[in-house]
This record gives sequence, C-alpha cells and structure tokens, in this order.
Amino acid sequence: MAQNANQHQVKAKKYLGQHFLNDESIAEKIANSLSFKGYKHVLEIGPGMGVLTKYLLKKETTTHVIEIDPESVEYLKNNYLNLADRVIEQDFLKYNLNEVFENEPFAIIGNFPYNISTQIVFKTLEMRDQIPEFAGMFQKEVAQRICSKEGSKVYGILSVLTQAFYDAEYLFTVPPSVFNPPPKVESGVLLLKRKENYTLSCSEDLLFKVVKTAFQQRRKTLRNSLKTLNLSDNLREDSIFGMRPEQLSVVEFIRLTTLIENDLNN
Ligand code: SAH
Repeated sequence: MAQNANQHQVKAKKYLGQHFLNDESIAEKIANSLSFKGYKHVLEIGPGMGVLTKYLLKKETTTHVIEIDPESVEYLKNNYLNLADRVIEQDFLKYNLNEVFENEPFAIIGNFPYNISTQIVFKTLEMRDQIPEFAGMFQKEVAQRICSKEGSKVYGILSVLTQAFYDAEYLFTVPPSVFNPPPKVESGVLLLKRKENYTLSCSEDLLFKVVKTAFQQRRKTLRNSLKTLNLSDNLREDSIFGMRPEQLSVVEFIRLTTLIENDLNN
C-alpha cells in the first residue's frame, strides 16, 4: 500500500511513454506472471507510481526499480519507504546493470514505455546470461510479434531472435480503458523463459545478420534476399534458399546460419 496518500499523483508525460495502469487486479496478475524461482533479484523497468511494484514487494525476491522520470522517483521514494534504496534513477537503455547486480541473475518485469519496448528486448537478449525470466506488458502487436511462429503474418526479426534464446508465451490482452491516460492501442502481456543448457550451433552475430537481412525483403526468397552475403553457388542450390523468411522456424534459421557460416569459412 502507498504509505502517504497525500502525495500528488505524477502527471503523465507523453515523451516518456507514461500510461499509468489503474487496475489493481491486472497489476497483480502481471506481477504474478514471474515464477520468482532461480533468482534473488527482480528489476522492474519504468515503475511510475508503483502499481506493479507493490505486488513485487510482497515476494521473497528483492525488488529493484529503474525509472527515468525524477517526479516518479520522488513519488516512489516517498510512498514505498522500504524500496527507497533500490530505486535507480536512470535510463534503462543506457545504464550498466552490472553496477547493481554484478554477475547475479535477475528477472525483468514491467509495464514498459512502448516507445522503447523493442530496445528493451534487444538489451535483454544481450544480457541473457543473467536474465532467466522476463515478463512484461507491450503494445499488443509487439507482444504478439515476439511470440509468433513461422507462417504468421507478424513473424519477424523480433520473433526469431527472441525465440532463439527464450521460450515466449503470450499471456493476455489488456484494454486501453484501464490506463490513465488511455493509449490508442491494446496492450499484451508476455512471458519469456530462457532456454537452459543450450548453446547456438552458429555464430550469434551471423544469426542476427542473416535474420535481419532476410526479413528486410520478406517477400523474396532467401536466394535473392541473401545475395549480399556472397554465398557460393553450390550453397545457394540448397532447397532452403527457395523459401521466404517467414516460412523458416527458429531452428531452421539456426541451421541456415550454420550452413552459411561453413560456406563463408571455406
Ligand atoms: N509501470 C507503471 C508506469 C508505466 S508507464 C504503470 O504501470 O502504471 C512507463 C514508465 O516507464 C514511466 O514511468 C516512464 O517514466 C518510464 N520510462 C520511460 N522511459 C524509460 C527509460 N528509458 N528507462 C526507465 N524508465 C523509463
């Protein structure tokens, strides 16, 4: 519970993507989507006035929050006294999280600012060795895209690269009406669980390059879209090159990258 009900509410700022959730049962449901197992720390990105935070604070794990908005930080420090030492007033995208977590694992959670949600996912992928679980609310289409499988219209770069390292599950949809101010679009909550005991059979950098290059021209066959990689004629005869990127599963993208890597090394 907020400890000082007299504190002024934070005024929503558009440039920070602030849409405050005002439905307690949805906040609790989002907080409960993590397992809270296998790590001692949870990092909430963009806590705002702490609607989710208060449910996280009930768990045995230690809650940390990172918030860019000084007004929200002041509100949090005044209203959640036992959180005050663990409020990081920083930009999540720029801050070096090892300053707080060193090499310890931590989970990520949040009702994210939608203008930077894709970058939040990419930073998570970079730090995945320390992030076994990730739950969060995105713009619905982005959440669906991250979780979608091959053959779907929204399957793309974000789907393949996330699912190369995490199992992705779309949990539920949230309507605009439960936010203040309401966003123009629906929201979706998803859960990512890292694939354990798993290593890529190909270079990660090359996988990113192949996936991005292929989806830049998603209507073309891989034979056409991957021309710029200077592959041998022999390799380009392989039937996989007759496919379009949206037809390839994550496993097939990894196999494709492995073939390309061997070809480039020859
Ligand atoms: N979790 C709160 C607020 C969601 S709005 C709720 O559900 O009500 C998104 C929040 O992210 C805002 O508080 C905004 O200030 C914060 N934010 C925006 N950009 C950020 C960044 N780069 N790093 C950290 N927090 C950010």
